[in-house]
Amino acid sequence: MKDLVSRDLDAIWHPYTQMKTATLPIPIVKGEGVYLYKENGEKLIDAISSWWVNIHGHSHPYIAQKAFEQLQTLEHVIFAGFTHPQAVKLAENLLSILPKNQQKIFFSDNGSTAVEVALKMCLQYWYNKGEQRQKILAFKNAYHGDTFGAMAVSGRSAWTAPFDNLLFDVEFIDLPSEENLENLKSKISNLKSDMACFIFEPLIQGSGGMLMYEAQYLDELMAHCQQEKVLTIADEVMTGFGRTGKLFATDHTQHKADIMCFSKGLTGGTMALGITSCTQEIYDAFLSDDKMKTLFHGHSFTANPVACAVANASFDILMQPETIQNIQRIEKKHQAFKAEIQDHPKLKDVRQTGTIIALEWNTDGTSYFHSIRDTLYQFFLDQDLILRPLGNIIYIMPPYCISNEDLDYIYTQIKKALSQF
Ligand SMILES: *Cc1c(COP(=O)(O)O)cnc(C)c1O
Repeated sequence: MKDLVSRDLDAIWHPYTQMKTATLPIPIVKGEGVYLYKENGEKLIDAISSWWVNIHGHSHPYIAQKAFEQLQTLEHVIFAGFTHPQAVKLAENLLSILPKNQQKIFFSDNGSTAVEVALKMCLQYWYNKGEQRQKILAFKNAYHGDTFGAMAVSGRSAWTAPFDNLLFDVEFIDLPSEENLENLKSKISNLKSDMACFIFEPLIQGSGGMLMYEAQYLDELMAHCQQEKVLTIADEVMTGFGRTGKLFATDHTQHKADIMCFSKGLTGGTMALGITSCTQEIYDAFLSDDKMKTLFHGHSFTANPVACAVANASFDILMQPETIQNIQRIEKKHQAFKAEIQDHPKLKDVRQTGTIIALEWNTDGTSYFHSIRDTLYQFFLDQDLILRPLGNIIYIMPPYCISNEDLDYIYTQIKKALSQF
């Protein structure tokens, strides 16, 4: 029998991977807490939460137990015309911690589908009301997923280039700041009669390079959208469930979005599940004796009972005081590390929000394809550390259960890299 990597190469096409030049995939056979284990028993620190999904550590025994129990009870049921206890419990759990204006929960499969649903809710909201509003507003450098609608509202980049002609028109604006806020507001006012909605990643643009901006200016933009009756969609797929130091990034703002999107940490990173929540007003716009006003959207695995059970288990852990303390502990450690290195001559910028810290290497050009990326990626792997740079930007986004010792180890390796590259 061939080894695992050879069998992988024979059969598998990996995501976001140039298969011709990629380094060999590393087989992982076990996960526990913040560690991932290789075949030979060596462990890696997962400092990026396995593509930003894991919040409570790998193979969490409580989550595993709840998944097992659910698998023995009900593994799946069609979600049109039927319901089940785990979906109802999850909807109630989420509504208990979401902003009060969020009143209804719609299930789908992942972050991209959560965004697709949000866009369809907004566009059809206006359609159902008989108003011609079809334009969408988004931030430059946004990332909202890889399906076509989600790609369309994402910034145009190397990732979208082959499809750019096919993506619907979106109005892109800069991130808000003290200087440009009034400009952005008047732009929105000028476009408002065509504008269906404004979609944004609150506080942090993840894939765009961990670009951070201030809650205060987002708040003012949201207030302005409300005033102009432009619907707002907070894509909390990455920021949700504690990442920014509060349960949700929009907990940092006074004004609340009409629609919110969740995935990634929703199940503690254990299973794929997407959720789009909305206000009563959005929901009511689809209530009618006219069947044409129905939201015709659903996936085979909508509200899968095992995924919902796992999300409920993750919710239980999230609500424990210890989890909130861990989030605050990581935040403090990151802040101290930032203070220590922010003036380093090799760094262009160090930024931190909640449990995420990002360091931007001082390189010529900031492309996602910058060669420093591969150098740093390999360097950290050699130190038994998974840090996966976005071009010249490295970031730490750990599961909340990471120890102070492991955080210190990561900081030390980063300082080593700073002295070496
Ligand atoms: C990852 C991400 C998505 C897409 O989620 P998938 O589950 O990968 O489809 C959407 N929006 C944001 C902000 C993300 O970080």
